[in-house]
Amino acid sequence: MVKEQIINIASKNPEKVYPIAALNERGFKRKQCKICKRYFWSIENRETCADHEPYSFIGKPIKPIEYKKLWDLTKKFFSERGYVPLNSYPVVARWRDDLDFVIASIVDFQPHIVNGEIEPIANRIIIPQYCLRFDDLPLVGYSGRHFTSFIMIGQHAFEKPENYNPYKYLRDLLDYFNYLGFKDNQLVIHEDAWAGGGNAGPSLEIFYTGLELANQVYMVYKVIDNKLIPMENIRVLDMGAGHERIVWALNGSINAYEVTFPNSLKYLRNYFDLDREIKDIYYLGYKIESKDDIINVAKEYAENFGFDLDYVLKAWEEYAKMYIVADHLRSVYLAIKDGMLPSNTGGGYNIRILLRRVFKIMEEKGFEIEKVIELIQKDLL
Ligand SMILES: [Zn+2]
Repeated sequence: MVKEQIINIASKNPEKVYPIAALNERGFKRKQCKICKRYFWSIENRETCADHEPYSFIGKPIKPIEYKKLWDLTKKFFSERGYVPLNSYPVVARWRDDLDFVIASIVDFQPHIVNGEIEPIANRIIIPQYCLRFDDLPLVGYSGRHFTSFIMIGQHAFEKPENYNPYKYLRDLLDYFNYLGFKDNQLVIHEDAWAGGGNAGPSLEIFYTGLELANQVYMVYKVIDNKLIPMENIRVLDMGAGHERIVWALNGSINAYEVTFPNSLKYLRNYFDLDREIKDIYYLGYKIESKDDIINVAKEYAENFGFDLDYVLKAWEEYAKMYIVADHLRSVYLAIKDGMLPSNTGGGYNIRILLRRVFKIMEEKGFEIEKVIELIQKDLL
């Protein structure tokens, strides 16, 4: 795997691979996780990385902020640092043969701009890119952080090697998190690597109390036949931050859905039988990476709080269904608006599955789909 190759190179010579000057100057120190052995950086003394940490920010807002407001702040901050703000590209990736939907902001610029064959609109940009992903469909509504559609805030640069400045990109990103209200000593930064869409590079993942907020990738390789080939006359910054996650963390809300769909959830709530006590289950959302984890978390919650397992599963499902409706209808709306209709094949089939799931819940609950879609548009940027 190319990812492991890069991590291997990086762990031996972090100073050659990562802009560690931007971490040193803020007081971050390099450590190795006692549990999983990965290298990470933090200001506070700690023995483990951020992967083993509950979402203890829930219930502890940093600075309450509306979903739409985050992009205004992001645009303002990065514009002042010389990045050109763009609007989201369509979610249907018509310029790609290998993808139906945009799954990350860098997809907007692959392959030709990333390869250096076409000049970008600007060398440094910031973009709120709507993305569609279906890999985690069974976890939507349960984990508190998985969506089929989300905004990836992309911080990108397409530079000649002599102008490429990872130190600045990382400093800008950390300053941005400070500007939003996160303190450096609350952040944990993992050394990692990323590969996708034919490119790869070392990356730094930024965590806040167990929640990954952003991944800054320094793209320096092309991947051909599983081999790493250094990119020639271009260096690319590929930073993706989770818009929903940042708003969630700033608000300390129970999950990311509550802050993402305020208008549609206000309406949907009337149709669902929501049990207040189960809400705390989203504290355990950090444990959910696969479908099996859902039942395990329900068991743990039932045991810890003296509930019957069936009761927990049923109450949780009720919340999840409501969030599924909002999430899925947003994805359907975005896909259809950009020209992908429900069908039997490819991306259209994904949209059909989403609709089928929503129709099933609608038949049971009786809300109006048109009304939800109308409210979802109010929740969009
Ligand atoms: Zn670890």
